[in-house]
Formats: sequence, structure tokens, C-alpha cells
Amino acid sequence: MQAFSLYEGSYSVDSSKKFIPFDPSKDDPKDRKGSLFIHIHPFLIQTSKGLILLDTGLGYKDEAGNLILHDNIKKAGFDPRDIRFVLMSHLHQDHASGMVYENQGKLQLAFPEATYYVSRGEWEAGYSGKSSSYKTEVFDVLQRSGNLELVEGDGRINDAISYEHSGGHTEFHQVFHIQENGQYYFFGGDELPEPEQLLRKFAAKYDFDGKKAMRLRENYGNRAAAEGWICMFYHSTKAPFGKVSIVDDSFRVEGIK
Ligand SMILES: [Zn+2]
Repeated sequence: MQAFSLYEGSYSVDSSKKFIPFDPSKDDPKDRKGSLFIHIHPFLIQTSKGLILLDTGLGYKDEAGNLILHDNIKKAGFDPRDIRFVLMSHLHQDHASGMVYENQGKLQLAFPEATYYVSRGEWEAGYSGKSSSYKTEVFDVLQRSGNLELVEGDGRINDAISYEHSGGHTEFHQVFHIQENGQYYFFGGDELPEPEQLLRKFAAKYDFDGKKAMRLRENYGNRAAAEGWICMFYHSTKAPFGKVSIVDDSFRVEGIK
């Protein structure tokens, strides 16, 4: 099993919920008052059962008009058409917009040979149009494609992949466990987006259930330390992969390549 970060870039986001590319080498954060700065790392894992993509980013294109995600998959040595499983933690626009892309004036699936695994409750909540964190035009394309598989609760997709309903960040958020040949990768999506979230105990206002999300982080941290998980941090500013240990009753995260 081999895992790759498909780093899509750094962005600032303000109350308009628009994500604007941010390049620390030339942009000044002072010009973006009131903005949050976030990094985006979708992940790719090669397993004997096929290639897995975990969350799909903002779906931004590079200057040549190619999807950054497609480029990064090629740089890792694969073709976007090789992706068999697209595993979605939840459908907020910074995780789900790259499920589709615009090609010759038409929105189409970015991974036409893949099955997209989405939580049923998340799908319904996103589609209801009640929150501006979701882009429903993306869902139309996926719904018509026949590639969508809605899942509920906890379950298993194959020998290597299982999912677990978490419900802290959004009500129907889910996390994924990828295991093969003694290796164990964990994708917590926005329940565990950065290693720092293990180091400090807090309930966040941006979560659907901040207290539950806090308890989940503790639970994942304990299991990660006990079982040797490699955690994948979607919004990490530094190392996107990390191993957790417990020292003097607190978590420690060691970034790994
Ligand atoms: Zn989110």
C-alpha cells in the first residue's frame, strides 16, 4: 500500500465562503483581513483492490486549464481513469467540488471509472440547499452519472476499506479506515483535519456538534496511538501524514513522509 498527498494549494476564505488562492511567497496575509487560511490535501492510496481517492478538494484548475487534482494524480504516476473508489468524508465545497470538472463547457465526472461513496444523510443535507457550504450543481452531475453509492452508518466496502459514521463536523460526516498487509491508514476528514487538533482540547463553533467532535478526536487519537495508524490530515499546514503517540497523558504527533 502506498499513499500520496495530492496537495491542491493554500487558500484564504472569508465570510463570503469564496476560496482565494494564497501563495505565501508573494501574497501578504494582511491584505486578507478577516480571512481564514487553509491548506487542502486530498489523498490517494494504492491498494491491491484498486486506487482510492479520499475527498476531492476545491476542483481548481491550473493555468493550463487542467484540474490540479488530475495533474497531481499523474505526477504520482497514475491516470485519473485508474481511480476506482472516491471516498467522501462530507460534501462541503472544499472537499467535494473536485468530484466533477468543467470540460468543453460541460460539467462532468472527474473520475468516470470510480464509484463515489457518499453518506446518505450528508447527500440529503447538502442537496436541500439550506447551507451555502454546499455547491448543489456538483451533486446534479453525480446523481445523473450512475456512479454514486449512498452508504449509512458503519460498514465495509471491501477487505481494505471500511467507513464509520462520525457526525461531529456535520451531522452525517464519515471517516475511513484503509488497511492492508499490516499497514493502517486513517482518514478523519474534518473531524481530524490537522494534527494540532489533537494537541489542544476544544469544542469548535464551526462543527455541527462541537462537543461530539472533541470527543471523537480524543477517541481517534487513542486508537491511532494503540493501533499504529497513519493519520491523513486534510487541512494540515505542515506534514499531511502523522503517527500519534501518548506521552505523559497527552497526544504527540510525529509527521511522516
Ligand atoms: Zn467541512
